[in-house]
Amino acid sequence: MSTYLKRSLETLASRNPAQDLFMQAVTEVFESLEPLLAEIPDIEAKAILERISEPERQIMFRVSWVDDRGRIQVNRGYRVGFSSALGPYKGGMRFHPSVKLDVIKFLAFEQIFKNSLTGLGIGGGKGGSDFDPKGKSDGEVMRFCQAFMSELYHFVGEDTDVPAGDIGVGAREIGYLAGQYKRLTKSFAQGVLTGKQVGLGGSLARKEATGFGAVYFAAEMLATRDDSLKGKNCVVSGSGNVAIYCARKIQELGGKVLAMSDSSGSIHDPAGIDLDIVSALKEVERARIDEYPKRRHGSKFFPEQKVWDFPCDVAFPCATQNELSLDDAKALLENGCIAVIEGANMPTQPEAISLLRQKDALFAPGKAANAGGVAVSALEMQQNAALQNWTFAQVDERLKTIMAEIHKDCTFYANKYRRPDDYVFGANVAGFLKVAEAVNCYGVI
Ligand code: NDP
Repeated sequence: MSTYLKRSLETLASRNPAQDLFMQAVTEVFESLEPLLAEIPDIEAKAILERISEPERQIMFRVSWVDDRGRIQVNRGYRVGFSSALGPYKGGMRFHPSVKLDVIKFLAFEQIFKNSLTGLGIGGGKGGSDFDPKGKSDGEVMRFCQAFMSELYHFVGEDTDVPAGDIGVGAREIGYLAGQYKRLTKSFAQGVLTGKQVGLGGSLARKEATGFGAVYFAAEMLATRDDSLKGKNCVVSGSGNVAIYCARKIQELGGKVLAMSDSSGSIHDPAGIDLDIVSALKEVERARIDEYPKRRHGSKFFPEQKVWDFPCDVAFPCATQNELSLDDAKALLENGCIAVIEGANMPTQPEAISLLRQKDALFAPGKAANAGGVAVSALEMQQNAALQNWTFAQVDERLKTIMAEIHKDCTFYANKYRRPDDYVFGANVAGFLKVAEAVNCYGVI
């Protein structure tokens, strides 16, 4: 590792103690940049790595709200505006008890390069809270969202920061947040949040975009080996927004989804998962995945197992960070898995990625493969600004093109630096170069 890279990482680690996820994300990106450092001396001379790894702003705030029993609850809210070099901060908000500054910073950092890859003029940000929507009534979720937005509204805006959803934040939560924003600012300001319900100015195909996009990316990757998803057995972790629409598109392209999961365990269905059941359980009833076998003969629930334990050709981690370990990668490879495509953010641990690469399995990092969600969010912003509503087919076509372009950029840089099939390297370099150039052009700010 070059002295500059080593020094940058050491300084960052000492300034951000106990931020392991953030350091994991930065280390992966910085290590990819090694070959650029000698070629572009300005990266060191203009302190690009130092500037790119320090958030422009980080906001933490108290969120007090009253639950259904009249008790006062206190949560913590976050919004990290990491880089506005390419456009307004853009990135989702996560409501989950595991949320802390480290989580939001790693997600916001990843978002910079993901957004750059989309080519759509959006900067990187992320936010959220340690609030857990699970088991809460609609009224509680609404009151929490209103309290959260009562602070957040000072910092967001169509040209400054445009939040969206992530784990625990779907169209319901975005609706409540948008309602409070409207009330506080006396403006309709459709463009201040994306992932809205269609009736509130949301884009058709936004709900499907991340999952569909990951599968479009998988199809592009497999095509480089004259292969496709047709007839492939697949497993998808999670059963939330990304997982459901990833599984739907796999099925549309002729693959079979054998297993899905939630945080309580996995379901396996040898006949192929019935997504109408999963969708009813998760999107409508907000139920647990162990209900599935009660409605589907021949399927089983495994509380102790991850989806990686079931034989498959292609795996799609679509739940959460670091959910696929080295042992999981070994199990996948032993069972003949040929490709892993990340629908979630950083779900594969670094040692697992190394092993998959060593064994010549295709591996797509989330910042490339799951960029379809934020790309369609940017298309939602375009529609709002132009007072237009595009059809599902129009948005889906743009999504497909964007995913193909991202795939092309990744392979271009991987081949240029003689690292064929290294999508981690290709995505990091392609995403970084655009941001670095913009940072440089602005001068020292
Ligand atoms: P959802 O809240 O809709 O679903 C999350 C799913 O993952 C649920 O099945 C959930 O199970 C499971 N899960 C969450 N945390 C854990 C955990 N700690 N252990 C095991 N399972 C867990 O979120 P999304 O589908 O929106 O997001 C999933 C991933 O995709 C995240 O990494 C997110 O950052 C990423 N992503 C999302 C985008 C989007 O457009 N929504 C865009 C790009 C990336 P349970 O219900 O039991 O908690």
